[in-house]
Amino acid sequence: MENYHVDENGFYGEFGGAYIPEILYQCVHELQEAYLPIIESKKFQNEYRALLRDYVGRPSPLYFAKRMSQKYGCKIYLKREDLNHTGAHKINNTIGQILLAKKMGKTRIIAETGAGQHGVATATVCALMNMKCEIFMGATDVERQHTNVERMKMLGAEVHPVRTGNKTLSDACSEAIRDWCCHPKDTFYIVGSTMGPHPYPDIVARMQSIISEELKTQLQEKIGRDYPDYLIACIGGGSNAAGTIYHYVNDERVKIVLAEAGGHGYETDHTAATFHRGTTGILHGAKILVMQNEDGQIQEAFTISAGLDYPGVGPMHCNMYKAGRTEVLSINDDEAIYAGYELTRTEGIIPAIESAHAIAALKKKKFKSYDVVVLTVSGRGDKDVDTYLKNKEMAKEYGDF
Ligand SMILES: *Cc1c(COP(=O)(O)O)cnc(C)c1O
Repeated sequence: MENYHVDENGFYGEFGGAYIPEILYQCVHELQEAYLPIIESKKFQNEYRALLRDYVGRPSPLYFAKRMSQKYGCKIYLKREDLNHTGAHKINNTIGQILLAKKMGKTRIIAETGAGQHGVATATVCALMNMKCEIFMGATDVERQHTNVERMKMLGAEVHPVRTGNKTLSDACSEAIRDWCCHPKDTFYIVGSTMGPHPYPDIVARMQSIISEELKTQLQEKIGRDYPDYLIACIGGGSNAAGTIYHYVNDERVKIVLAEAGGHGYETDHTAATFHRGTTGILHGAKILVMQNEDGQIQEAFTISAGLDYPGVGPMHCNMYKAGRTEVLSINDDEAIYAGYELTRTEGIIPAIESAHAIAALKKKKFKSYDVVVLTVSGRGDKDVDTYLKNKEMAKEYGDF
């Protein structure tokens, strides 16, 4: 049987690994040696799970969406990561990594952020743990995502605008890696998705795997078996998707459908559809699928959704996609906007524009009436209300609301 989890060398098939500058070798190696014994220890697990319960508000509900189910002729359950503290799944990961940082004796935290969601989730746990926090964010994003910058500052973080390249997420990642090179001893880099050099993709996947761990129990209670027929999630770097599928990756009874950001269309130059457009390359320390030109210049990602705006995708997902284990659908901006309104008017849940990409995938699949479909709502849409209202027109062709 295939095994889609990481191997002992940090690879997922041909993808992954740790392609890092010499100067980082020591601290990445230290992390590779330290992470499993710490994460698997009873002490870590007790602290981690207590915080997930009392601080984050887990378990997140698994909600049977009755009206959506009627509409799509199957049984749709929503995994409500939007109800977590700070409004998305990202806090599951930052809670885990800051505990790991403390156990490794680190005193300073750095992180990259695009839309600012991971920056806020990191600044939040740093306030909680009284740790020094510095966030790298593209100068363009600092302007576009002003509220999140203010939230980070209020939480006590220092925000560094990055003025290189396109001044967006990809440049912020490079800058965070550069800072880490300068302070390898005292600094822990909290990576925000299933990206970066080994062991980060595995660390983040394990921290988010609480999602599918809960799904097993919740499905058993609700439908009398612990697996669904379909799992659906949106995918940027791949962390909410990894958490959703983690305990099912090697279970072929469960079909996996991921929704990536098509932007104006995966066949255009305004897209973030990495699976459809990417080729194998090395970005931010790992071998992954990357949108790049023939010379290996990284192509800027484009999508209405700031959280999916990244030209690469994590190695676990690259491997599963290449092996045919996952189906990836490209969802365009207008389809996502429509789906956001659709969930809002059908169930009274305003999803993050990222999560709306997953909702839009429902339309593109044919389900049987007895199919159990679990869809992860990765975050809440409060931050996106302006975007929905401003772009309502573009979704008109799909229906009225
Ligand atoms: C950041 C974010 C994403 C995309 O990141 P993944 O690592 O692919 O999960 C999706 N949804 C929300 C709400 C986000 O904040």
